[in-house]
Amino acid sequence: PSLRPVFNLTGTILHTNLGRALIAESAIEAAVAAMRSAVALEFDLGTGKRGERDDHVEALLCELTGAEAATVVNNNAAAVLIALNSLGKGREAIVSRGELIEIGGAFRMPDIMARAGTRLVEVGTTNRTHLKDYAGAIGPKTGLILKVHTSNYRITGFTKEVPAGELASLAAGADVPLVNDLGSGTLVDMSAYCQGLRHEPTVAQAVAEGADIVTFSGDKLLGGPQAGFIVGRKALIARINRNPMKRALRVDKIRLAAIEATLKLYRDPDRLVASLPTLRFLARPAREIESLGERLRGPVEGLLGQAFSVTVVGADCQVGSGALPTDTLPGFCLAIAAAGGKTAKRVEALQAALRRLPVPVIGRVERQRLLLDLRCLEDEAGFLANLSGLARGDTDNGLA
Ligand SMILES: *Cc1c(COP(=O)(O)O)cnc(C)c1O
Repeated sequence: PSLRPVFNLTGTILHTNLGRALIAESAIEAAVAAMRSAVALEFDLGTGKRGERDDHVEALLCELTGAEAATVVNNNAAAVLIALNSLGKGREAIVSRGELIEIGGAFRMPDIMARAGTRLVEVGTTNRTHLKDYAGAIGPKTGLILKVHTSNYRITGFTKEVPAGELASLAAGADVPLVNDLGSGTLVDMSAYCQGLRHEPTVAQAVAEGADIVTFSGDKLLGGPQAGFIVGRKALIARINRNPMKRALRVDKIRLAAIEATLKLYRDPDRLVASLPTLRFLARPAREIESLGERLRGPVEGLLGQAFSVTVVGADCQVGSGALPTDTLPGFCLAIAAAGGKTAKRVEALQAALRRLPVPVIGRVERQRLLLDLRCLEDEAGFLANLSGLARGDTDNGLA
């Protein structure tokens, strides 16, 4: 296949280019079952009449977030697009200048707003925005106030942002909805599971603070398949569901099955670390990663041959996918250095050889060493067996 499994040893747990979150086993089983047979996707087994595909996950989303209603679309970019279009088309959307984010690629908040048919009204400055800035921008053409979680960068120093709770009061007073795009929304407090992670606002918190609509991703910290969740007030969710865009952005039965199974895991927070790969990686103790490195070091050096030396070095891992951008988790890497000259060239050649393995191994180069970050490596034996596929010629001659 062209879309091949790889070892993600990049040191970025949720790597967008490597498919972000790994899916929990129960969600994989649910997805496989949904693929293999007909399912009651839009069929109410109680009445025998037509049902709604979102019904399979709406109650769960409400239970886990405290929201009145919920709907699901292709990804969070789609969630933002359809929420803005449904609630703010032909009207103004007020956003802080400090929150006009670019997620990557062509997803820039001002462009999405334009495509959604809303007119962007920027308030405040890059580093400081006050409640009075929002209040001064509200007028007869205001369609909504948008708050965007600055999930992939931080503004530090002399800064001020308006807490969502205060914005919610302002929005309610002006009778316009407050949309809070959380980006990588989490359903549990990640800092309780992983030392070193900052507290990231949970979706339930954002709902409790009074946002009328909250949007978040399925495959970032939540650890499920790609999806965009929209939770909030019943009347607004109904408007979003009536938007013809909904049909274009809806998710299929395979993902719905996986989403339902993933969300159900959150009913048992004590077992989440065991059941959810993303959380398991985030919570993995550094000393466990170090022991893994010590076990692998010798065998890997043996497989690479004379031309390379392998050491275990401490290195920080990042969450990735624009979540918790300044938080890192202490961990360990295999650091592979080339002996002799032409170091950079030979490390590059080794990188290429690892990409040609049956299961390509993806690491990163730092200071002319190839670092294989071990936080996301669980199949130790499989990794070594795969590495033994390095062609002799690749290693004996130092990949010259
Ligand atoms: C990641 C992110 C998005 C886009 O979400 P996708 O699931 O990648 O489509 C939108 N807004 C914010 C704040 C994000 O962090």
